[in-house]
Amino acid sequence: MSGFNFDVITLFPKAFELINNLGVITRSLDKNLIDVNLHDLREHGEGSYRQVDDKPYGGGAGMVLKPEPIYKAYESIRKSFKSKTLLMSPQGKLLKQRDLVRWSKLDQIIIICGQYEGFDERIRCLADEEISIGDYVLSGGEIPAISIINGVTRLLPGTLGSPDSLKNESHNSSLLEYPHYTRPKIFRDMKVPEVLINGNHKKIERWREKQMIKRTLERRKDLLKSFTSYENNYCDNEWFWDL
Ligand code: SAM
Repeated sequence: MSGFNFDVITLFPKAFELINNLGVITRSLDKNLIDVNLHDLREHGEGSYRQVDDKPYGGGAGMVLKPEPIYKAYESIRKSFKSKTLLMSPQGKLLKQRDLVRWSKLDQIIIICGQYEGFDERIRCLADEEISIGDYVLSGGEIPAISIINGVTRLLPGTLGSPDSLKNESHNSSLLEYPHYTRPKIFRDMKVPEVLINGNHKKIERWREKQMIKRTLERRKDLLKSFTSYENNYCDNEWFWDL
């Protein structure tokens, strides 16, 4: 094994071709910082048709992934010492940035992707955590898995051109990031704020802090519930109360 290993159990390995054209992940694969090992569920299917799904007991619509192929695929994966298994499921815990940070300290993540109506209940015990990427239902766990691979990879040392870009990023704390501008100074009558042009770094820093709080108040007040004591220091500033 080299670098960080993502092992994905999926019925649609081709869905992961996307990661070969996805900036940070592609560069990290090229630099051997990560490996994405795809375990095709079909190869562990049963009988000459390599059956992986069946009708649900008790009746009802759709097909359910059988437990045997998932167990076989899972048991064929070499586990490292710092490994966790994640089950993609709309019934799971909502994915947060802090989860990605936590997992980026591991050296292997095994991801099980469901399909169709879902999976046999008896595979749930393979997972350390059951994760949902939002309160909506997709047709399979592949896009959720790619989201996790992407989100964890960009936190690994050496994967980003400038690790500083993670510092003030939205969801790194309970604040959203400040607005960004680049050239030209005026675009269709929309001007870059003067403070960003005048080169006074103290003032720029102060402006950005204010913008982070303003944005969060406007868009995601709910995030401020988890305001940390460090962030609470903002309340000591007069300008905070004018926002
Ligand atoms: N019948 C299931 C239910 O109502 O809970 C939904 C099955 S869904 C159509 C098929 C698979 O897609 C799931 O087993 C899961 O792996 C994946 N999936 C769908 N939505 C997801 C989400 N929001 N987060 C994570 N995985 C999801």
